[in-house]
Amino acid sequence: MENFLKNNNYKCVAVSKTKTINEINNIYKLGHRDFGENKVQELLKKQKELPQDINWHMIGHLQTNKVKKILPISYLIQSVDSLKLLNVIQKESKKLNIISNILIQVNISEEISKYGFQYDEADSLITKNLKKKYKNIKLRGLMGMASFTDDENIIKNQFNKLNNLYIQKKDEIDSINTLSMGMSNDYKLALEHGSNMIRIGSKIFGERNYH
Ligand SMILES: *Cc1c(COP(=O)(O)O)cnc(C)c1O
Repeated sequence: MENFLKNNNYKCVAVSKTKTINEINNIYKLGHRDFGENKVQELLKKQKELPQDINWHMIGHLQTNKVKKILPISYLIQSVDSLKLLNVIQKESKKLNIISNILIQVNISEEISKYGFQYDEADSLITKNLKKKYKNIKLRGLMGMASFTDDENIIKNQFNKLNNLYIQKKDEIDSINTLSMGMSNDYKLALEHGSNMIRIGSKIFGERNYH
């Protein structure tokens, strides 16, 4: 396994979806504290059974009816992909009297099937609304997934575009410090294009088996 831990330039979220408590514990023992899950039930179950100093990242599409459950235990919700979800996170955070850390997910691949705000939507939302309207939300930055393709130029363009938006918004909003892009297959390109948070599953845990 490549050592994703020893560096000062980026944070690595170990994506533990489908992996067992034992497998996660082995990575925890190496010093990893940031883990990512894409399903609420799975995250909640693992959070109960594993050490309490883990930072849990929600990285998958989040249904609004599950927001209430996930907010108290999530360190960062990376997959905020709609206004509706943003509004529910604000409402529930206020009830809980907490400030929730989020990333805005941008659909950089422009594939219709993928979740996330379009580039322009994200741009105007962040500038116009976020500061004033969402008092219980702290916007930490942006998250994106590149297309699944072997064409490096396509991936580079997508990462580059998201990085440009990130740099611009970071100047406007003090709390922004995180650009989450890059997975097992494309993290090197992502880091070359400004990413400071990579989400690595198979390169840490091995391939996933879906039953
Ligand atoms: C599964 C997943 C990852 C990690 O994928 P790998 O290719 O195994 O590194 C990263 N980000 C998201 C949003 C995921 O769902």
